[in-house]
Amino acid sequence: MTTPIYNFSPGPALLPPEVLQQAAAEMVNWHGSGMSVMEMSHRGKEFMSILESAQRDLRTLLNVPSNYKILFMQGGALAENAIIPMNLVGRVSPQPATIDFIHTGAWSGKSIKEAAKYAKVNVAASSEGQKFQTIPDRALWQLSKDAAYLHICSNETIDGLEYHFTPDVGDVPLVADMSSHILSRVIDVSRYGVIFAGAQKNIGPAGLTIVIVREDLIGHALPYCPSAFDWKIVADNDSMYNTPPTYAIYIAGLVFQWLLRQGGVAVMEQKNIAKAALLYDYLDSTNFYRNDVAKDCRSRMNAPFFLRDESLNDAFLAGAKEAGLVQLKGHKSVGGMRASIYNAMPIEGIEALLAYMRKFADKNA
Ligand SMILES: *Cc1c(COP(=O)(O)O)cnc(C)c1O
Repeated sequence: MTTPIYNFSPGPALLPPEVLQQAAAEMVNWHGSGMSVMEMSHRGKEFMSILESAQRDLRTLLNVPSNYKILFMQGGALAENAIIPMNLVGRVSPQPATIDFIHTGAWSGKSIKEAAKYAKVNVAASSEGQKFQTIPDRALWQLSKDAAYLHICSNETIDGLEYHFTPDVGDVPLVADMSSHILSRVIDVSRYGVIFAGAQKNIGPAGLTIVIVREDLIGHALPYCPSAFDWKIVADNDSMYNTPPTYAIYIAGLVFQWLLRQGGVAVMEQKNIAKAALLYDYLDSTNFYRNDVAKDCRSRMNAPFFLRDESLNDAFLAGAKEAGLVQLKGHKSVGGMRASIYNAMPIEGIEALLAYMRKFADKNA
């Protein structure tokens, strides 16, 4: 028997083995069409059926209300940081508009930098002074009076923080970068103006960006917004204004079907709670390792952790790899280790990680 490999990559990340096996079986000849999905016209009836099922299944999984569009775009979450202001700041006056941000880590930081090219930016709250170990209390946010929107990163992939609440922001559209935890927990889409996510963390291959946007926020793009990034043009053309990332959409669709077979997002959420609790409970029980994030802000998807003796980092990673536990190295800006435990990570992966961590701690104590 070969040791199973557990992949803790933050992204591109692991996919459910069943999905990869199905994709492999269908790779050269999709459903008897004689074609790979990669070889099909995006306007042919075969691919149209793939796109429609993927959109329908995502709508079901997240219970997306009928007054929201689901767009399949490209450019990643980072491009969306520019696409969002180009589509939203034109809605308000006076110009230049103000965008409110909550700064909780690396990804919201990048969003702030990008948006500043298109509007005035107001950092309404920041935990930079706390080294991004916490999410600023909602009561302390200094929101502007007439912001075009409020942007949050609801799961900071690098710093390991997650919003376990949906902030109430009145009539201002709430925009959330959910790249690294979309579909990991139940959300009330109606509380958001825009939800966006790069696919490569918890959905599928890189190249696909999911945008879920309320209809009244569509149709306000600035004149210089590229057509392929104008939500109205994308929506009016059912995400087919230009060639969409067809193969990535196909794989994402298989992941959506897999999630439905698991019982949907509520079932995944319970599993994710159990997986994260197992890992954090262990981290809190030992002095050998530590996680510094405030307990009520810890991410269920991305758990950074540190060895007390950092000179053992290389030995830890080498031993982990030998034990079949790969891609555990922390982000260079944070250091240490990071275990990303997305939907496709079974609890057996966490158990294997903890068994290794215990053994390593005993040997090096
Ligand atoms: C990975 C990530 C991004 C960047 O996504 P790209 O697809 O590389 O542009 C942005 N935000 C969050 C929260 C992420 O995890």
